[in-house]
Amino acid sequence: MTTALCWDERFAVHDMGRGAMYLPAEGLLEDDVHVDNTARIVRTRNLLARAGLDAVLRIVTPREATVEELARVHSLEHVGRMEVISAAGGGDAGGGYTPMDSRSYELALLSAGSALTALELVLQGEVANAHAMLRRSGHHAWRDSGYGFCIFNNCAVAARAAQVEFGIGRVAIVDIDAHHGNGSEWIFAADPSVLTVSIHQDRSFPSDSGQVEHAGEGAGLGTNVNVNLPAGTGDPGYHYALDRIVLPVLRGYRPDLVVVACGVDASLFDPLSRLGLTAAGFGGAAERLLAVAGEVCDGRLVSVQEGGYSPAYAPFCWLAIVETLAGVPERHEDPYEPFIAAQPCCRELASWQREAIDAQAEFLGRYWPL
Ligand SMILES: [Zn+2]
Repeated sequence: MTTALCWDERFAVHDMGRGAMYLPAEGLLEDDVHVDNTARIVRTRNLLARAGLDAVLRIVTPREATVEELARVHSLEHVGRMEVISAAGGGDAGGGYTPMDSRSYELALLSAGSALTALELVLQGEVANAHAMLRRSGHHAWRDSGYGFCIFNNCAVAARAAQVEFGIGRVAIVDIDAHHGNGSEWIFAADPSVLTVSIHQDRSFPSDSGQVEHAGEGAGLGTNVNVNLPAGTGDPGYHYALDRIVLPVLRGYRPDLVVVACGVDASLFDPLSRLGLTAAGFGGAAERLLAVAGEVCDGRLVSVQEGGYSPAYAPFCWLAIVETLAGVPERHEDPYEPFIAAQPCCRELASWQREAIDAQAEFLGRYWPL
């Protein structure tokens, strides 16, 4: 059984426009490319090929999602508005920092379709697991709006398709992007059939959501899990949070499918977070999630790409994840590792990091056997 990689060259040409990181260039801000630019995905695709993975992976061209599939988690008004904005030549998908151009709607359909294609390959038993490469990211998008570079919530669309099309009962979305998966949380807050877990930098983005106390509502109380990591946590703290909270929650919930919102913007070199993970750290996270998926749902795992904004380093983080999913016996070395090793910050679990994670585990213990 192989690992699928969903890929379409249209992801590599989508232009988020100019700007200074994510702000328009004006005043003191000199013109630059948007931080969510083509380089991060082009360089990732190139690296996977140069690392020889095309001979190992099943490379699949994704289909587009249909409006009906999107409408399971989004309002028709939102979907229609996105089409209208694109048709008009561009605008903002929501929140003020989510630029769209004339092709963004098509690319958003293809992004959700990439997650669906990966899902279908896994649930039809054609591959062991799958990684959906895509742009536009999805986890900040909620029912009625895009947000934070995201137009449609690709993971949510895939989770609901698993239930509607394949009769899957319980789905777990595990969001390892450095930022809170607020869109997924809000879509499934009252739905116990979808467990949403987000492990993110404390009060980063959105700064007013993702607290551990936000545990879902109504029938879904307990099935929304937020893990907040202090800035500077690094690999050991990240793995401790997975081992202490996320994996026991997954064992308690026993999903029939694991969907990973696979952002790598928690990396040491990312401009939009301060979490300090290495490529090896992401590989370790993927190992843990793959192992627990093996325990609870016969290894059914779909990885859906999210943020990750260091054009130089994000590709090595995704390489480590894809190599792990594919079970490559000898992983490529991280060329940045000698420089990282010379900086001991983020390489040890500090007592204050452990205490912050333990305190959240204690709170979540009311819902889960932690
Ligand atoms: Zn992010």
